[in-house]
Amino acid sequence: MAQRHYKSVLVVGAGALGSRVIPMLAEGEFDRIGIADGDVVTKKNQISQPAYAPVDTSKVVHKSDFISYVLSSKYPAKEFVSYPFYIGEERAKSAVRDYDMVIDLTDNLQTRLVLNSACSMLSKPIVFASIDENEGFFYTSSDGFACYNCIYRNSIGSPKEGCDSSIIKPTDAFLKGLVNAVTRMARGDSSQNGHLNYTSFVNGSRMEINVAKDKACEICSVHNYSSVPVSKFIQICGSGIKVSLQKNIDLNAVEGRLSGYSIQSDNEYMLAHLDRKSVLISAKGDLLFTGYTRQEAESLLVSLLG
Ligand SMILES: [Zn+2]
Repeated sequence: MAQRHYKSVLVVGAGALGSRVIPMLAEGEFDRIGIADGDVVTKKNQISQPAYAPVDTSKVVHKSDFISYVLSSKYPAKEFVSYPFYIGEERAKSAVRDYDMVIDLTDNLQTRLVLNSACSMLSKPIVFASIDENEGFFYTSSDGFACYNCIYRNSIGSPKEGCDSSIIKPTDAFLKGLVNAVTRMARGDSSQNGHLNYTSFVNGSRMEINVAKDKACEICSVHNYSSVPVSKFIQICGSGIKVSLQKNIDLNAVEGRLSGYSIQSDNEYMLAHLDRKSVLISAKGDLLFTGYTRQEAESLLVSLLG
């Protein structure tokens, strides 16, 4: 039997891809799976992410909490750890440090670059994957191979950021290929590292590109961490505008500044409604604005933080 090298994995992103891949990984060889996602289950993402269909969306339920709860009941001998917040620069290193390897299933570039530099600095293997309507890709990287920044710094044009606004359904062949790549990496097989894999969901065709390490890369050439200039990120999706401040928020102080809003809250979360707009605020520093333009969200954010 093959030697097991890596027993724990941190999965970042529990959306259209993560909600399908995480249960497949739980069935496999990992003893401990960390699940990080600051997003909450909504009626809209229940359509494209059937894993969340049983959730009562009248309550605030984080995707990572729900999926870890379901998998803990199904696999009581394994450990599932929920991180119900976005992993930005400040939190990446401490989260990554606790795991043998990382899988990035997010759809935004900032998170990807932050995880890439944390993994490079801590010498943790990482698999990047994402999907859109037509195709899926994954890339496996570890020490000595091109990192994600090597790909990014040499790419042409603006990166495409997917969101869960459209109905995205990856093919089983793609999901199996991705899980196989993760399993090979966990067993210490680095033969596929440095390969970028594309699968078309339209005709099933596959393409593999060998990515060369860029000797001038700011991240993997010197194992640098701090050169990614991202301290917070704003992501605009069909579901709203997400802001991750990467620091705790005093919800009582914020409530005092929200005049005219109707408020539901507990110790950890506050949901404030005004007309057809709402903002969900977590004490850990994540905000989700729904019905706001980016400018409106930014000016509300400034007034909330005082
Ligand atoms: Zn690099």
